[in-house]
Amino acid sequence: MNVYDSSRMSDLMQEAYGLRIVDEPQDADVILMNTCSIREKAEDKVYSELGRYKQIKDKRPDLIIGVGGCVGQQEGDRIQKRAPYVDIVFGPQSYHRLPEMVNEVRRGRVRVTATDMPEIEKFDHLPQPKVTGMTGYVTIMEGCDKFCTFCIVPYTRGAEISRPAADILKECQALIDNGAKDISLLGQNVNGYLGEGIDGKEWGFTQLLYAVGALEGMQRLRFSTSHPMEMTTELAESFAEIPALMPYLHLPVQSGSNNTLKAMHRGHQREDYFKSIEELRLFTPDIALSSDFIVGFPGESDEDFAQTLDLVKRVGFDSAFCFKYSPRPGTPAAKAEDNVAEDVKDVRLQALLSLLREQSKTRMAQQIGKTLDVLIEKKSKNEGDLQGRTPDFRIVHFKGNPRLIGQTLAVTITESYAMSLRGELVIAA
Ligand code: SAH
Ligand code: SF4
Repeated sequence: MNVYDSSRMSDLMQEAYGLRIVDEPQDADVILMNTCSIREKAEDKVYSELGRYKQIKDKRPDLIIGVGGCVGQQEGDRIQKRAPYVDIVFGPQSYHRLPEMVNEVRRGRVRVTATDMPEIEKFDHLPQPKVTGMTGYVTIMEGCDKFCTFCIVPYTRGAEISRPAADILKECQALIDNGAKDISLLGQNVNGYLGEGIDGKEWGFTQLLYAVGALEGMQRLRFSTSHPMEMTTELAESFAEIPALMPYLHLPVQSGSNNTLKAMHRGHQREDYFKSIEELRLFTPDIALSSDFIVGFPGESDEDFAQTLDLVKRVGFDSAFCFKYSPRPGTPAAKAEDNVAEDVKDVRLQALLSLLREQSKTRMAQQIGKTLDVLIEKKSKNEGDLQGRTPDFRIVHFKGNPRLIGQTLAVTITESYAMSLRGELVIAA
């Protein structure tokens, strides 16, 4: 999501001022940081990075420095108090105003802060997104109303707002027409989508998916992130019903313990998660699954953690992201004592990672011998090889002519590694 937001910011600056991306900060006229505050570590990085930019600005006082994204939203004016050389502070809902803010700074060398959260008019002010490589991204909803007790997102990105279906369809079609072969619908909780349909009625996420999936030329469709609480049978079924919808789902569960899930205010229990997975596999037996986990949430006992390992064993994931709990200021969980010792968090994280690594290795090895449709994305780093993706999002390397880039061709898998596969084109070309 942040990569997408960053690319929109650069599109905007290009359109407004003809600015282009440079490789090194010392060559820039404007430096914009798009920041994350989901964990404390990400936030700490902002200030250390800013220190580097200050040195450039000491030599070139005309340099404009902006801090955007969730740290910008959360810290607001405090950033400029701590780092007075920062010209612009802006939040995730106000980056469409960047050209105007840069202009204000250029005219008067004033400091600008934009952290209000207007109803999203943002998308009306952004140029049509570009296709990078084979992939395109379309934001369908923003913000979050779920208020999981550990999470800062509802405070930094604001309430859930869904874009009208007509806008989404138009943007997807434009991406397809510009060569996108793999499109991802983005949002904090995409399956919480509730927007105006093209028939004037309110559409839910599944309805939107069917419409997007039916667009002319739509080859591969994905979405991220979905919430287990809103995982419906209709959504599970849509994986089997929409040919373009790829068999890959990221469904963060955070914990396998009902106590912890409750304390996290996730709105579901482990049994609900098992039921969703069962349904998904009923319709799409080979669906690849990934998830997010937090270890060391306040009050998480050995038994709670054992339940997480048990959930992982029962489900069998293809990949996952695991995090140590990090208290975020202003969230309900941060009021509770961060009472799982750091070394216990470390041990749990390692145990979880090693179990997930084993599972992922097994699932990778199961691909050997299969013949899969691979969308050929680019030349691989290995000389003479091409790189592509299977429908379930695995990376495959194989020998082939670079003129095949952009095509989807059958590849028989011959070897598996931790993060990728190796194969051979069925029809050598
Ligand atoms: N909307 C998505 C997740 C967005 S945040 C969902 O609900 O699934 C991405 C991930 O960061 C979360 O899934 C969670 O695993 C992790 N995360 C969020 N807040 C955290 C915190 N305070 N400490 C550690 N990890 C956190
Ligand atoms: Fe955060 Fe929960 Fe919203 Fe996800 S659903 S963004 S974890 S509050």
